[in-house]
Amino acid sequence: MHTDPPWSVWMQLTAVAWWQARSSVHPMTCPNHPTHPPLTPFYDGEQVRLCCVACEYQQATIPEPVMRAFIAQHLEDIGDVEDADLATVYQPRRSR
Ligand SMILES: [Zn+2]
Repeated sequence: MHTDPPWSVWMQLTAVAWWQARSSVHPMTCPNHPTHPPLTPFYDGEQVRLCCVACEYQQATIPEPVMRAFIAQHLEDIGDVEDADLATVYQPRRSR
């Protein structure tokens, strides 16, 4: 059982898709071969993974800079929230 991620699944999927579509940064790519397409975000029911559609490569970690860039770009009111607060701020809402 993994610990709760600090970012919601929706946010991770959206952030990765946004990052991969930006023209100003190099997209995250498969380390196995330079001709493979940019990695695709995939939710396996437990966590978001980055997958290569051309081979078996997967990584289970979304790079922190990707999430931070997404937050900075889209959620202006985050301001200077301390790192320790991010998990609280971005916990997905739980239905009761
Ligand atoms: Zn690949």
